Amino acid sequence: MQPTPPTNSRSDTGGKSAALRLRLTATAEHHIRAGHPWVFADSVREQNREGVAGELAVIYDRKDQFLAVGLYDPRSPIRVRVVHVGKPRPVDQAFWRERLEAAVRRREVLFDGLTTGYRLINGESDGWPGLVLDRYDTTLVVKVYTAAWLARWEATCELIRACLNPERIVLRLSRNIGPAAARAKLADGMALPGNKPEASQVFLESGLRFEAEVRRGQKTGFFLDQRENRRMVETLAHGRTVLNAFSFSGGFSLYAARGGALSVTDLDISAHALAAARRNFGLNHNLPAVANCRHELVQADAFDWLAGNAGRKFDLLVLDPPSLAKRATEQAGAIRAYARLAESGMAHLAAGGILVACSCSAQVPADEFFRVVRQVVRKSGRQFQELRTTHHAPDHPATFKEAEYLKAIYLRFD
Ligand code: SAH
Repeated sequence: MQPTPPTNSRSDTGGKSAALRLRLTATAEHHIRAGHPWVFADSVREQNREGVAGELAVIYDRKDQFLAVGLYDPRSPIRVRVVHVGKPRPVDQAFWRERLEAAVRRREVLFDGLTTGYRLINGESDGWPGLVLDRYDTTLVVKVYTAAWLARWEATCELIRACLNPERIVLRLSRNIGPAAARAKLADGMALPGNKPEASQVFLESGLRFEAEVRRGQKTGFFLDQRENRRMVETLAHGRTVLNAFSFSGGFSLYAARGGALSVTDLDISAHALAAARRNFGLNHNLPAVANCRHELVQADAFDWLAGNAGRKFDLLVLDPPSLAKRATEQAGAIRAYARLAESGMAHLAAGGILVACSCSAQVPADEFFRVVRQVVRKSGRQFQELRTTHHAPDHPATFKEAEYLKAIYLRFD
């Protein structure tokens, strides 16, 4: 017997009547059943017709039973992003409302009023494949990674408004979907009609004030994913001189300053990032520890700067480079770059100094990253203790391998 396919909302079929039906290879079927949320184009064995971006694709198994339903994207190598596996059920506005409420509930226990910037939806891992929702106080930023969401933009905003009532919703687009967005008359950084289009939004993180460049900044305007590591750095900073390499807008530095650091040096290649770091220090000058902490800005390539400047020693060094491997073929090069960074970073650590080495390259697994850093420090012959390793923050859950990217290792040198 054919199971009833899930009900499609109006936009789901793109005006066509027959539901889009897919059958997959045995391996892909197995992965989907096991909870993996992606169907790659080359795993599609059969489909009744071509689909349009954003419509629901219903996946049937070899026994012709309903297996899953997902968002279709005819131009992406990730052809379907699964939204539901198991018993057939309607994927309509009520479904998405339930998913949004669940994601919001998950964060309720994580943050108090001192943190008004955090991730509300982390894509696949929150049941919203290819979509991120970040809160910066009264501004919400939606970032989409598949054209599938463009057709659903209005309905999604309606839902967000009804559930969360923000002052402003801003749309951000991953680079690859720019052309599709232009066709849909959507643009990166646009705010909803009637929303004031401010470029930035001030919010609180652990009681510190930061500005997020919501319309143009990297990610959705701030690196919310590093909050837990920043908190840790605050507890390690007292009485220390700190170098924050790849500082961006000074996130780690402000925590270090509040934690009692004597000085913090922000090192970044971008003048724009350093200007934001200066503004963020200004926003927190009411805090005596921040006002008393010497703040230095250095605009330079961090790889070069660390390889030179031998005379500069610090008591705490944070290394948080951008992703060094965007694709699998870049993995080996990234690993060598992490080794080089750890090695040259260590050379700037005074006796008793602490190294915090981070990696946000999804292509470099955590174990591999930790192994490389440990190997480099062992080779140096310096005595050290490993303080801890960390992974994803709880508002950035990662429920499958490809979603894991962030890891950090803390080492203290004698
Ligand atoms: N630690 C930051 C996030 C770092 S993002 C935080 O907690 O917010 C990576 C930063 O590295 C960006 O600001 C980017 O401008 C900078 N960057 C990229 N390549 C660089 C290079 N070669 N040298 C120095 N900075 C670089």
